[in-house]
Amino acid sequence: MNRVETTRELPLILIADDDMMLRVMARARLEALGFSVVEAEDGAQALQTIQSVEPELFVLDVMMPEKDGFEVCRGLRANPRFAHAPILMVTGLEDADSINRAYETGATDFITKPINWVIFGHRVRYMWRAAMVGEELRRSENKNKTLVNAIPDLMFHLQKDGAIQEYKLPKALQTSWANGELYGKNIDEAFPSNSRQISISVARALETGEMQVCEHQEKSGRATTYYESRIVAGQDEGAVVIVRDITEKKNAEEQILHLAYNDTLTGLLNRNSLREHLNRALSEAKRCGSCVAVILFDLDRFKRINDTFGHNTGDQLLEAVADRLLRCVRKGDLVARSNPHGSAISVGRLGGDEFLTLLPEIEKTGDAGKVARRILDSISHPFFIAGREIFITASIGISVYPHDGDDAETLLKNADAAMYHAKDQGKNNVQFYSREIDPAARESLALENEMRKAMERGEFTVYYQPQVDLRSGKIVGCEALLRWPHPEMGFISPQQFIPLAEETGLIVPLGKWVLFQACRQAKAWNSALPSGLRVSVNLSSYQFRQKDLIDVIGESLETSGLQPAHLELEITESAIMQDTEGAVLMLKALRQMQIRIAIDDFGTGYSSLSYLKRFPLNVLKIDQSFIRDITKNRQDASITTAIIALAQSLGLEVIAEGVETREHLQFLSDKGCNLMQGYFFSRPVPADEFQRLLQEHSSKELFVKK
Ligand code: C2E
Ligand code: MG
Ligand code: MG
Repeated sequence: MNRVETTRELPLILIADDDMMLRVMARARLEALGFSVVEAEDGAQALQTIQSVEPELFVLDVMMPEKDGFEVCRGLRANPRFAHAPILMVTGLEDADSINRAYETGATDFITKPINWVIFGHRVRYMWRAAMVGEELRRSENKNKTLVNAIPDLMFHLQKDGAIQEYKLPKALQTSWANGELYGKNIDEAFPSNSRQISISVARALETGEMQVCEHQEKSGRATTYYESRIVAGQDEGAVVIVRDITEKKNAEEQILHLAYNDTLTGLLNRNSLREHLNRALSEAKRCGSCVAVILFDLDRFKRINDTFGHNTGDQLLEAVADRLLRCVRKGDLVARSNPHGSAISVGRLGGDEFLTLLPEIEKTGDAGKVARRILDSISHPFFIAGREIFITASIGISVYPHDGDDAETLLKNADAAMYHAKDQGKNNVQFYSREIDPAARESLALENEMRKAMERGEFTVYYQPQVDLRSGKIVGCEALLRWPHPEMGFISPQQFIPLAEETGLIVPLGKWVLFQACRQAKAWNSALPSGLRVSVNLSSYQFRQKDLIDVIGESLETSGLQPAHLELEITESAIMQDTEGAVLMLKALRQMQIRIAIDDFGTGYSSLSYLKRFPLNVLKIDQSFIRDITKNRQDASITTAIIALAQSLGLEVIAEGVETREHLQFLSDKGCNLMQGYFFSRPVPADEFQRLLQEHSSKELFVKK
């Protein structure tokens, strides 16, 4: 209240009374309080006065000549300038009727004659203060109204029973929202497509007392309008609902999202989103035990296009490539398998002329190869850009989870290595990531670990393949061949794990184990059969260099009881050529023990006559690569013939391995090679099966299939 008095000067008061005495008294009192005063002698003069001055408070005598106080009061109220001005009626008649009339005509208060001037002063002052407060209220209400009108939202007050009470529906929302009158309508009736959502939020707002926000949308034709409703619980068990059109905001958000996750030139996914997609695909694959392929694709000699035709053409070419990439990936049968949890095939550009395709949930690596070749094929057709025909090729590298890495980083790095390998291979080709490209690869590490576990668990076993002497038709020996039946991966080829065992030194304990097994087994067979059966054991060059080799061999002969003459060691040419002096000593020592020495895979290594003469050997084993095409390839035929002749001239035995057909057999026996080994007779078989072979053929003359 004080604020009002101090911020505003006291107003001019009009006193209208025909009693001059009263006017003088009133003026004196009011001026003493700080008001200014203007006087009128009757009602007509009072109305006249307000034309020229602007009083803000009125003291009107009810009984006046010309126009009475009631009439003046009505006149004032009819004038918008004085619609809210405080009017004090002075009445001589203290009857209820004139008091009622005074209020009806718009008076603010009344005072009766005879006037108590002290009370009069107070009453005027309080009237003025109340008027100020009223004015302030009106002003702030107006301000609020302007504010509310300026807000472009739909607002309504919802009663507990769901009926809309007050509302404000801005023009912009009239077309999409219930048109026309909302007052009294039920929410279901007013907003049929969104009422459920709003009602739920209203209920929650009433229950929790907290503001609720819900989003909803309205479709009209192809356009969608998005809304956000804020619901605040009111005090009367109803709620205030503010509905805002957020379509623009939504569209902007989408646009930002698109820019953040897409390549601006091609519209494909960008590096960030590719990485996200890959991570998602990996966790899905880890859960389901499936594979994920990363296909990295780089245009060959793209720089040349930019340099010759300009960047514009280069950009257009990239767009066209992106288009083909998408089409050829979408066309594929694989795409149909993308699952609803977002593991669809993703296509993106990493930058420059580098593109990436992710295949989630593939069953086998070959699927990725198929897609990659389809991509290469689609790129190989000419592009028509700016009236030019442009030919381009690409190099593709593929890495596959889980074989080539189990995180995005490693898979991308390995696909990159494979892609560069494809470039090295002359471009325009597809390469899978492999250990050869990156020797430090995980794969070999995993296999090494597996191998150690396999040794502990006793997963390895030895198979035996018969060696036949055509002259007697009997099995005269067998080659011991290591087998690894992996519980999950099946048989892993020795060609795959022996090199790794050599690299890691695991071959030493493993080879020792084979030697013991083979000796023990051969002893058992020799004890049961009259004719001596030889067993050939492969020695890797790594084993051959071990200082304690002689001891190990001696020990296995001793513990098994096998005669040394029944043991043959197969050594490759390269093993003895690494350190010829040491090899000569070692071989001599072995020969002294009566052990036989065979040169395995003969013909593929150094094949020098001089060393053949220096080394104490027993057998040359012709490599199977010469036998395979012996009847078709003249060079293979003449090499084989020469080896047989060489062996004969050196007084060595000769055995052919990889004999698969009757033609092989015929050719070899024609040339004088009578010892043979190969699928024609038998594949390598487990010990018990080999024993059956022995029993079957010991009675028969010829071990030759008719
Ligand atoms: P290798 O010593 O030359 O063994 C002969 C290979 O030829 C064996 O392959 C055998 O299964 C295969 N073979 C035999 N007959 C035929 C035929 O008619 N046609 C064809 N296509 N192949 C035939 P495997 O068992 O896969 O062994 C591969 C290589 O692994 C062996 O070649 C040998 O170098 C090495 N290896 C196997 N076991 C041992 C072992 O205990 N110690 C060492 N150090 N190396 C071993
Ligand atoms: Mg061998
Ligand atoms: Mg061989």
